[in-house]
Amino acid sequence: MNPLEESIAKVWAGERLTPKEAVRLHKEAELSLLATLADEIRRRKHPENIVTYIIDRNLNPTNVCVTDCGFCAFYAKPGDEAKAWLLDRETIYAKIQETVDVGGVQILMQGGHHPELGVEWFENLLGDIKSRWPDLHLHAMSPPEIEHLSRVSKITTQEVLEKLQLAGMDSMPGGGAEILVDRVRELIAPRKTKSTEWLKITEEAHQLGMKTTATMMFGHVETIEERVEHLSQLRALQDRTGGFTAFIDWTFQPGGNPLGEKLAAEGWKKSTHVEYLRTTAIARIFLDNFNNLQASFVTQGSEAAALSLRMGVNDFGSAMLEENVVSAAGCSELVALQDMETKIREAGFTPRQRNQRYEIIDVRGLTPHVDQKETTLSTPPVVPFGQ
Ligand code: SF4
Repeated sequence: MNPLEESIAKVWAGERLTPKEAVRLHKEAELSLLATLADEIRRRKHPENIVTYIIDRNLNPTNVCVTDCGFCAFYAKPGDEAKAWLLDRETIYAKIQETVDVGGVQILMQGGHHPELGVEWFENLLGDIKSRWPDLHLHAMSPPEIEHLSRVSKITTQEVLEKLQLAGMDSMPGGGAEILVDRVRELIAPRKTKSTEWLKITEEAHQLGMKTTATMMFGHVETIEERVEHLSQLRALQDRTGGFTAFIDWTFQPGGNPLGEKLAAEGWKKSTHVEYLRTTAIARIFLDNFNNLQASFVTQGSEAAALSLRMGVNDFGSAMLEENVVSAAGCSELVALQDMETKIREAGFTPRQRNQRYEIIDVRGLTPHVDQKETTLSTPPVVPFGQ
């Protein structure tokens, strides 16, 4: 057997790939082979043939940010009166009530690194939300936000996490990971949390009993080797803690941000759907200790997201009422919840609503899709969504 065939045999046997083997597979394997391997792993982990999604809302308390990531079209500098905003409580409460009214079970809260908002402001916000909606899951504050709060409030990241957990933070989104290689981070977001710090904060959250997700934004300046190094860091941390619920990857969106303009001037081309599918399949093959992979329909559109269900993905992501960050970069793929369920069925799966712990909470239960015309949803069927 040649080295590529040896790697393929290892995957079939359920053995772990080395980073070198994953790089080779990424560079040399046909897309159809990657699909076969990734789909087989997905089938072994999820034999019930269900594809899940969650109804939630992406709530961004502020877009004011001092971190100036080159790829970000969402933020405003402090003092930018034309663009900067900070939501007041009434607006936040109205958005949450709207989410709850349509069956939403989670608020995904992330935002800019505001120079004047310390940990106390967020403790009050999370505490007030929890006192009004005690059953709502607060998936809040990514590792770079935790690091920023530790700077503003002059306490450790562990202390920030402890305070926010006490106030009502249930789990942490794995945003801001981009590519966990500092050469790449220096080029695309030099002021943002470094790789070791992102991993350290995530591990601290896991040790406090909070689950988190892991993300990857690729297709900018990184090499294939660096993508695999990113996956390798996540896999090693998952070995230590088991704290990741899911992995979510998406491609860099070049609209309205300095990195996009710079790369376009250098002749760079935006990642294709094929590149997204290849990378997602490699993630499923390499991340043998992750149960769940989430599609990115906001960046890929519902057709490519549906294709990813045959490349190892088992979750369609968030049926969101609002998405501001990726759509600011000129990319917004919103479809009705009913259309999302149709896409999942057309790919050969049964759609079911889940919670943040990936437990099925759908009133239709776990019954497989014996009825293709099944339309009884636990929520109204016209909720727009995005990742
Ligand atoms: S990605 Fe986040 S941290 Fe970076 S500039 Fe945008 S809002 Fe700020």
